[in-house]
Amino acid sequence: MARYVYGFHQGNKDMKDLLGGKGANLAEMTNLGLPVPPGFTISTQACREYLAGGEPVGLRAEIDHHLATLETARGRRLGQADDPLLVSVRSGAKFSMPGMMDTILNIGLTDQAVLGLAEQSGSPRFAWDSYRRLLAMFGRTVLGVGEPSFDAALEAAKRAKGTSSDLDLDENDLRALVATYQRIVLERTGRPFPQDPREQLDLAIRAVFDSWNGPRARLYRRTERIPDDLGTAVSVVAMVFGNLGTDSGTGVAFTRDPGSGEPGVYGDYLPNAQGEDVVAGIRNPVPLAELERIDPASFTELREIMTRLEKHYRDLCDIEFTIEHGRLWILQTRVGKRTAAAAFRIAAMLAEGGVIDDDEALCRVSGDQLATLMFPRFDDTARPAPIATGVNAAPGAAVGEAVFDAAEAVRVAAEGRPVILVRRETNPDDLAGMLAARGILTSRGGRTSHAAVVARGLGRTCVCGAEEIEVDPAGRRLTTGRGVVVREGDILSIDGTIGAVYPGSVPLVPSPVVEYFEAGRPDHPRPGGDLVAAVDRLMRHADRSRRLRVRANADTGPDAARARRFGAAGIGLCRTEHMFLGDRRTLVEQMILAGTPAERTEALSRLLPPQREDFVEIFTAMDGLPVTVRLLDPPLHEFLPDLTELSVSIAAADAAGRPVDDADRERLAVLRSMHETNPMLGRRGVRLALTVPGLVELQARAIAEALVRCRRVGGDPRPEIMVPFISTATELDAIRDRVRGVLAEVGTESGLEIDLPIGTMIEVPRAALTADQIARRAEFFSFGTNDLTQLLWGFSRDDVEASLLPRYLDLGILAGSPFASVDRDGVGALMRTAVRAGRGARPDLGLGVCGEHGGDPDSVHFFAELGLDYVSCSPFRVPVARLEAGRAAV
Ligand code: ADP
Ligand code: MG
Ligand code: MG
Repeated sequence: MARYVYGFHQGNKDMKDLLGGKGANLAEMTNLGLPVPPGFTISTQACREYLAGGEPVGLRAEIDHHLATLETARGRRLGQADDPLLVSVRSGAKFSMPGMMDTILNIGLTDQAVLGLAEQSGSPRFAWDSYRRLLAMFGRTVLGVGEPSFDAALEAAKRAKGTSSDLDLDENDLRALVATYQRIVLERTGRPFPQDPREQLDLAIRAVFDSWNGPRARLYRRTERIPDDLGTAVSVVAMVFGNLGTDSGTGVAFTRDPGSGEPGVYGDYLPNAQGEDVVAGIRNPVPLAELERIDPASFTELREIMTRLEKHYRDLCDIEFTIEHGRLWILQTRVGKRTAAAAFRIAAMLAEGGVIDDDEALCRVSGDQLATLMFPRFDDTARPAPIATGVNAAPGAAVGEAVFDAAEAVRVAAEGRPVILVRRETNPDDLAGMLAARGILTSRGGRTSHAAVVARGLGRTCVCGAEEIEVDPAGRRLTTGRGVVVREGDILSIDGTIGAVYPGSVPLVPSPVVEYFEAGRPDHPRPGGDLVAAVDRLMRHADRSRRLRVRANADTGPDAARARRFGAAGIGLCRTEHMFLGDRRTLVEQMILAGTPAERTEALSRLLPPQREDFVEIFTAMDGLPVTVRLLDPPLHEFLPDLTELSVSIAAADAAGRPVDDADRERLAVLRSMHETNPMLGRRGVRLALTVPGLVELQARAIAEALVRCRRVGGDPRPEIMVPFISTATELDAIRDRVRGVLAEVGTESGLEIDLPIGTMIEVPRAALTADQIARRAEFFSFGTNDLTQLLWGFSRDDVEASLLPRYLDLGILAGSPFASVDRDGVGALMRTAVRAGRGARPDLGLGVCGEHGGDPDSVHFFAELGLDYVSCSPFRVPVARLEAGRAAV
């Protein structure tokens, strides 16, 4: 027999799938013997069946049964005219979705029962107050009566009374308000408010089921990646009353400060109120510590329960409670949300105290949280009141001039002044402005809006959906809800970590966590439970546990040195393009466009010494650790004069009858012959090495000579040569022969034996599919997951995140960018094939990943699963990858 309903004594905290978080924890607390009002939970299974095909057969009978039990326990019937049992009908899914679904209090009150409640409680004011609350909540959520109606009527009643507090409304005022509310219900729905208590209950349960598919809940699930098919449970709980007078009240308690993780008395208390008042901000609550004075006995009992719950859950708990005539009731608990800093401190403190072990502590923090802690922050001692708040879409702190269109952002930034781009919402035309800006602020859109997605991709700070500001692009200004006007050029500070906007320039402080990494690991852990000590403890455990090594992408000496301080085990990707840019560009041009072999040799011989110096610097910084040098990769045109510019200038000279240099005409001809419509699929990577005479020899020689130089001074350089953009094993054959030739030459010249690993990137799908053939010629593979994603999906990595992706996210076609988190089903499957084939052909094949995915937490877990040897990511992501590699291993 299907079972849809569970009494609180029939469940426990591990039944979240079925009872939702709220129901499972109510059951757990009931079984712990805590003072929880009696009740029962209708399962998510019932919700799923209801949403699929209407009310499940048998549900009603089970509810009848549990309601009867509840009525017996309380000695009165639901809505009984002379002494009514009242209940709350509460939503609660497996994952907490705060404020997204509905809860209705005081179910069971009717025109009759309100009189009985007045009589029984001795407080007619309380009875009418409870009834008006039921009417408003039921009207809004069950009957769909939209605002402004109920709130407006309440405001009007308070105005008429000349007060701003609902506490000043007396019995008669509330009675009149109830009549008004009933009239609103009748007018707006064509039916009177239902006077049958059981009908109220059934309608409320259905409304909570339906709220699972409400637009708010759907949007929340999409941004939080909660599956759509879980459904919500519904808990029916006997009411206890915090609005019975000054010896009653309601509140929220945290076993620790969710901002810092510090144990103590944190929370809010609101005397003479019902639960929803705290959230709604109707009146200002007092700090929880005040309860000690107001009601010492309840305070002591609450403290004991807090300690017990934290011990039981072994984590920070947040707790909803109500006091009815001096008697404490617990209405909810859950493992509480917390800031990144609190997460690290709590995990470390609990591990330190032996409450949890270090593996568990590591699981309770994340790489994303660590990344948040590494951004510079606004100085808390200098933070003014925000002028607006919005969605914390991309973390960080940014200060700059407010600018209202992309072109102006580009212009101001080009003058070296920092910019905050302010838009109602952004679209692909704003991309240049977003790139130029330090931060982005929009008044519309949520976490998956264009602004949010692109900002995260670009690493820009973003606050979006700050609805209280009015953006006026034509007038070049914004106005906040409170009437503050910010004009173009005024300085703004935005905090993307918490979603706040401040006037003027808020001072920044460097992250203490970055300072800790910069300093290298302290020999002794720092004293006290401070944040750095917590990070240190968890990083040490991650490093002890992980199998995956973490290297860095770095192409200069200082970057390499920083990466090393941040814990990199070498360089997984040393790009060489910068060695061909700047004032070396003319030599590159000469090398490529050379008319004679002599000219080419001249250019190459002048490029060699500075490149050798570059490598010496990098190998020195990474002494004793591997440095994977990637041969030149980008399409050639990136190093050459612009074709259009040159043609235009020659055409203009011709038209004006000015003489044109023959050399220029020749350059134009060569540029034309090399022009490609789609350069990213053209002559790049190994194709360049094989077709530009002398190029690969130059690079191999610079590497080999740098190696010799380092060894001569007692160093231990460990370069590896990596060939990019291979599609066929024969390309690798040809390159290897040429590189080996150069190594042998330098060996003879120096009298040293030079042998270094030659490997390849796997980034063209064909290479992945022929990995066995390639592995026979390559000592290592490094997956270039950016290009692999681009080529496998057919998505241009430079455009798609701004142009197509936001739409695709809105349409629900994709849940995230495959460039941000590796696509396990497609790219991941191909990688798995290549790993298997590669290791089959060469068991000791080295395997790594370079590219942005190497620093993405979710991707790191996948790479660990694949059994790769290392990931490589930008120096700042190295600690994040170390932490996640540790988490993947415990
Ligand atoms: P949410 O998930 O939005 O917190 P809840 O179901 O927890 O919604 O209920 C909203 C408020 O009503 C909370 O403050 C809660 O403590 C209070 N509440 C719920 N059920 C009862 C009850 N049976 N008696 C008194 N207060 C209740
Ligand atoms: Mg709650
Ligand atoms: Mg590539």
